[in-house]
Amino acid sequence: MKDLIKQIAKPPIYLYRAYKEKWLNDLYYDRFPPKPTVINLLANDICNSKCTMCNIWQQKQDFEFSPAQLEKILSDDLFTNITAVGITGGEPTLREDLPALYEAACRALPSLKGMSIITNAIRRDDVIERIEASAKVLKKYDKRFGIMVSLDGYGEIHDINRGRPGNFATAVEVINHFRNNTNIPVSVGCTITKKNVWHVDELLDWLQAEGIYGRFRIAEFIKRLYNDEIDEIRSFDADERYHLQCFFKRLQLEYETGEPFLRTYENIIQMLGGKPRQIGCPYHKKGVVLDSKGTLLYCAPKSKELGNTLKEKAEKIFFGNLEERRRLKREACSDCIHDYHAVATPQNLWHDYQSKLWSRLLNLHRAEKTAKLTPLAATPKNTTGIKTVYITGWYGTETVGDKAILGGIIDYYEKEFAGKVRFKVSSIYPFLTVRTLEELNIKADIVPFKSKQFLQAAADSDITVMGGGPLMGMGSLSIPLAAFIAAKRRKRKTVVFGCGIGPLDHEQHIEAVTKILKLSDEIKLRDRASVAWGEKLTGRNDLEYYGDPAFRYLKKRKAHFQSEEKKPVLACFLRDWSKEYKGDMTDAEFEICKTNFEKNIAAAIKEFCREFHLTPAFYCMHTFSVGGDDRTFYRRFVDTYFKDTETYTEVRPSSVDQIARAMTSSSLNLCMRFHSVLFAHTLETNFLAIDYTRGGKIKGFLTDNNALDRIMPLEKIAADADFSFLPKIEKL
Ligand code: SF4
Repeated sequence: MKDLIKQIAKPPIYLYRAYKEKWLNDLYYDRFPPKPTVINLLANDICNSKCTMCNIWQQKQDFEFSPAQLEKILSDDLFTNITAVGITGGEPTLREDLPALYEAACRALPSLKGMSIITNAIRRDDVIERIEASAKVLKKYDKRFGIMVSLDGYGEIHDINRGRPGNFATAVEVINHFRNNTNIPVSVGCTITKKNVWHVDELLDWLQAEGIYGRFRIAEFIKRLYNDEIDEIRSFDADERYHLQCFFKRLQLEYETGEPFLRTYENIIQMLGGKPRQIGCPYHKKGVVLDSKGTLLYCAPKSKELGNTLKEKAEKIFFGNLEERRRLKREACSDCIHDYHAVATPQNLWHDYQSKLWSRLLNLHRAEKTAKLTPLAATPKNTTGIKTVYITGWYGTETVGDKAILGGIIDYYEKEFAGKVRFKVSSIYPFLTVRTLEELNIKADIVPFKSKQFLQAAADSDITVMGGGPLMGMGSLSIPLAAFIAAKRRKRKTVVFGCGIGPLDHEQHIEAVTKILKLSDEIKLRDRASVAWGEKLTGRNDLEYYGDPAFRYLKKRKAHFQSEEKKPVLACFLRDWSKEYKGDMTDAEFEICKTNFEKNIAAAIKEFCREFHLTPAFYCMHTFSVGGDDRTFYRRFVDTYFKDTETYTEVRPSSVDQIARAMTSSSLNLCMRFHSVLFAHTLETNFLAIDYTRGGKIKGFLTDNNALDRIMPLEKIAADADFSFLPKIEKL
């Protein structure tokens, strides 16, 4: 703890260095820049692809420098510090003399360490032959080499984005050839446009399964690609932007490990949310672009042509046009989403430092001390008569059910204070909560969890609420614990609202929940079992059974959905059955039970749809990787069991309204996610409930609501291939 407090007082030395570097960049290097160290070299200006996001393929072949000319260009003094060259195009492998270009660079560049290539891998045999020959050149000169194959989706979707049927197959063959037969690192580059935006997760699934490394970028307007007028670029609607934010967060959490790339992905998330570019760019200091005519540019996307190196000295062109580079920084960079990865800016480092520091200070081991010891600013006296309610919990990872809970709690306090109330919501991933508030049409300030403001907001607010969700065995119990301690330091009211209690096994978690409950002025719980457990933990007898606040919100909104016309659809709200519910099963027993359950429920869905002439439709109660994205489960489940069946799978992000409409318009709902059961029951729909909690919260809810006749225990489904687990339904 002492170490951490020292860190707060004394930011690390690298931050000072970064600020010094930025100061030097702004004041000195912008006017007196060093020589570049990286070249983006465009080998040609033609391409055999027909990409959605690029118009190079419409270019006619024109002048291209020869290897001898390239060697002469690169022998200019400007290039003496170059350590890395990336060869792209057009499509560089269309040049028969490609290996000679690599040879020219190796001979001309005294500081060169490595080169790379990006290819579309369309003409498989030529691509392999020319890249292998180029690799031999680099080996001869003892330089590093790397290959990136463009791959914009799994299967047909790649071919659609690239405009070339059969390209996915050749790309995979090229990837496998180099992976299986050489030591050359092979990676994949995916460019995201309007055409493949809903298919990026499938590609990532495949890359993860195959153990292939890939990078993802948003297609950008790039002068060198003649794509200024293309509609498919950066024209995402709100759903697509949000979906991409979730996808790039998935990349950060599950896949990418390299620091600059993680930073680039964070920048993309922020820019998709409407912020300006948050990261630097290698073209601000160390990069330069050389095209196949010998033209020099400061960067590919937005730079004007600076001059031709075949006619003029490269050094003179580069250092004689610095106002253009300053113009780029001034006018173009803040809106450029291109994924050039740069060293961290001081702002990036400061943000990372704060975020890492506060996640450590607010973890379950330290949260109590942090909340007690952090200096908090004095709160000005509230003379406005408007109350402030601060809702905390697991927001930032919310499911559709959690969104409805938030809507219910906000509705409760709106009524309690007759509208004279403002709200703050803490969030683990604020971009997600921005979307939730938009969907619910709620105005509230979002307070990032990993920040000092998280504690200050509790100290400043009239009421701090732990807003729904389970108080169960997990490290995130530090969130309500720290918020309640900070609130109590200012003698503020604290409320546990709509939570369940358990499962709780670990002593530290039991202790944390007990403390949270003891710090609460009011405790309104989701179910009666939780009330009994809470009373046992605290010795209090004032705990209230309130029910799930989602119920309140749905009741309020119910009239909006009742006019939905019934469709011949069996709407399914399934989820992956995760190991946390295996109870006393061994891992092997759990896997067998899970496989049998999925097989039998799939067969039952098909049989049921056949008998009642329905189409199965799969909906998601959650579309974010933290907490289990239901679309990931459906990709596997539908692909395994429904290949030969007409189905509908919703891929757009789910909202309360979307789920409620799907439920009220379907003939029958098959519910597995807990809140899908609650939604289906509250909206008075025809439904069946799969109890994957093995007698836990689903059974508890159905018991409390006299609806046990709808229950289908998961183990019963797994054990019975004859559908006897299905309740008798004569007609729908
Ligand atoms: S416009 Fe700016 S951020 Fe984009 S590539 Fe060019 S220099 Fe880099």
